[in-house]
Amino acid sequence: MKKFFAILMAAVLVMTMAACAGEGSNNGSGLNTVEKGVLVMATNAEFPPYEYREGETIVGIDAEIAEAIAKKLGLTLRIEDMEFDSIISAVKGGKADVGLAGMTVTDERLEEVNFSASYATGVQVVIVTEDSKITSVDDLFAEGANHTIGVQLSTTGDIYTTGDIEDAGLGTIERYNKGADAVMALKSGKIDCVVIDNEPAKAFVAANEGLKILETEYITEDYAIAMPKSNTALAEAVDKALQELIADGTVQKIIDKYISAE
Ligand code: GLN
Repeated sequence: MKKFFAILMAAVLVMTMAACAGEGSNNGSGLNTVEKGVLVMATNAEFPPYEYREGETIVGIDAEIAEAIAKKLGLTLRIEDMEFDSIISAVKGGKADVGLAGMTVTDERLEEVNFSASYATGVQVVIVTEDSKITSVDDLFAEGANHTIGVQLSTTGDIYTTGDIEDAGLGTIERYNKGADAVMALKSGKIDCVVIDNEPAKAFVAANEGLKILETEYITEDYAIAMPKSNTALAEAVDKALQELIADGTVQKIIDKYISAE
């Protein structure tokens, strides 16, 4: 009984010390975040296997990387689900600390936010119906091709096809809020193909009969974490944590958990 009380007292003491440390230094992190002690991640949970819903919970590669970063920084992770189109402005406007959404680093986005080191590679691919006359990416750029191409609004798929195809008068772009909606439109014959990142493409093709991914690729790109330009201390801390997680193999382990090697 005496021993039990000794352990209990020791536990209470440790807990009290932990609580004090937390109060004195912003829950251990000392970082200025949108909400004290919390790392708010903006995402669009429509992008398997990087972020998607399993019941009410948002899971995926980005969710787990953010969780590992938050843990390293002594913060609790909170994920805010929003339109892909709103993520950059949420980060820029002080509503989120980080944006993880399989987000490609582009020059335009670099004007709005900072990016961490890259933690994954994405490839823009083309989904078509199995009987499609489109057999290669080049078919989309052919003179008089005039295809209707589905993309997710404001993604790099939208940006590239708008520049390369619509502005060049070679076809029309249909923009959807969700990649899955573009895929549904393709299935029902409203559009001729979908340009989207390879991993969600694989997930959508696996979940829908009669579709395939063209073997030729549109473009390869780097995914990174978007962070506010105004909070350099946070940006540096997040980047450092990410680089450590890359170096010690944690990031690769998380990716391997969701993406099986081909
Ligand atoms: N990688 C693409 C982009 O950054 C698509 C990301 C997404 O749809 N979540 O625009």
